Amino acid sequence: MISRTLVIIGGGSAGMAAAIKAYDLGVKDILILEKGRVLGGILNQCIHNGFGLQEFQEELTGPEFLARYAAMTQERNIEVWFEHTVLNINANKEITVSSPQGLVIIKAQAIIFTVGCYERSAGAIKLPGDRPKGVITAGQAQYYQNILGQKVGKQVFVLGSGDIGLIMARRLTLEGAKVLGVAEIMPYSNGLNRNIVQCLEDYEIPLYLSHTVTKVIGKERLEKIEISKVDANYQPILGTEKIYEVDTLVLSVGLIPNLEIFNNPKFVTSSTRGLLVDNHFASEIPGIFSAGNCLHVHDLVDFVVKEARIAATNAYHYLQNQNEVSLQEFAVLKAKEMGYLIPEYIRIHQSDTAVTFQFRVRFPILKARIKLLNAKNEVLFQVVRLYLIPSEMVSLEVKAALFLQNSEPLHYEVEVLE
Ligand SMILES: Cc1cc2nc3c(=O)[nH]c(=O)nc-3n(C[C@H](O)[C@H](O)[C@H](O)COP(=O)(O)OP(=O)(O)OC[C@H]3O[C@@H](n4cnc5c(N)ncnc54)[C@H](O)[C@@H]3O)c2cc1C
Repeated sequence: MISRTLVIIGGGSAGMAAAIKAYDLGVKDILILEKGRVLGGILNQCIHNGFGLQEFQEELTGPEFLARYAAMTQERNIEVWFEHTVLNINANKEITVSSPQGLVIIKAQAIIFTVGCYERSAGAIKLPGDRPKGVITAGQAQYYQNILGQKVGKQVFVLGSGDIGLIMARRLTLEGAKVLGVAEIMPYSNGLNRNIVQCLEDYEIPLYLSHTVTKVIGKERLEKIEISKVDANYQPILGTEKIYEVDTLVLSVGLIPNLEIFNNPKFVTSSTRGLLVDNHFASEIPGIFSAGNCLHVHDLVDFVVKEARIAATNAYHYLQNQNEVSLQEFAVLKAKEMGYLIPEYIRIHQSDTAVTFQFRVRFPILKARIKLLNAKNEVLFQVVRLYLIPSEMVSLEVKAALFLQNSEPLHYEVEVLE
């Protein structure tokens, strides 16, 4: 069996940032296992700009951002095994890997899990109708267009108005396709306002809010789709059906943390379907850490690399046997207005100055008071935040000193003010 001090699973931005930080702290025996042939993960296909404003104070494209991180990884001679897909990890930190040479087992002293996320497919959203060619996810469309240089279709409709759907509507338009519209089941877009303006309005692509695809029609190739308006319960309203003749339907209907390797529900949180971690990005299995999109889906790569560095620092402490004793441990429950909360379990160490919570709201809120309460319903921390939208992650920093007297579960409440 091969042994390594630190194994990082996934060589995207989170994996590279974690490897660089661990190396700089003094962990030299690091191995990155990457199932693809290049570093960078999803960044390879994100050729638009908007990456690295916080990290490099510059607006880079995805490939430019990843090139800087890949160079930093290579400068340190950090070992990367490409075309190595991790199939399983057990609690002893034995990693089963499918490689071009066959199955390999690697024993790690510590693991940082950074495998990104995957896209919801037609099957996952129970898209009604036929299953012809031409129904693809936004990530697949991005891969065909931006990596392989292949056109995906001539007459296109997009389902889902998150940022990836909006960016792909513009991208396919620029490549000569006619994008007939973007349908969104919610009464609001899940994308950033700047993307609605720059990707749809600038190209006169209509956005149909409270609409969904109610039928896919086509034998071999997609021929038509039917879209309908939906009611407040997201049910199609009879009589509102419209038919569009399209050869391609691009699905941008959500990303889910990739956790196939950890199919043990004991270690997984139901709110993100990612690994359950504490405020040090440590999982419930000692020595296994996680960061990036496999933990929760990020809108900005800057937050991904920041999180990965924290995970790497704590992996380093673990490897040095410098794990601090927890002064307090307790769970934190999310408010019903929050889609998820990271972390849901807190361990306060002597060296902690603050605990950072991250969440997304379920629906847009103009003005809210966010409160963290103890079991007696006493408010420990509160803050007013404006313009909360599901597409943007919210980050709250709470002083660790506030928790020194607490050992009971805490809970969040969101008071909607406007
Ligand atoms: C379309 C799109 C547009 C975006 N636009 C912006 C933007 O404008 N600005 C911005 O700042 N951020 C943007 N982001 C967000 C940000 O870039 C990503 O959230 C971030 O790059 C994710 O990094 P990651 O390392 O967590 O995941 P990934 O980049 O997905 O990396 C995961 C890696 O793990 C590998 N892997 C997966 N499974 C295994 C396995 N079993 N074994 C071995 N390896 C495995 C994958 O091959 C991949 O290389 C965008 C994201 C997307 C998807």
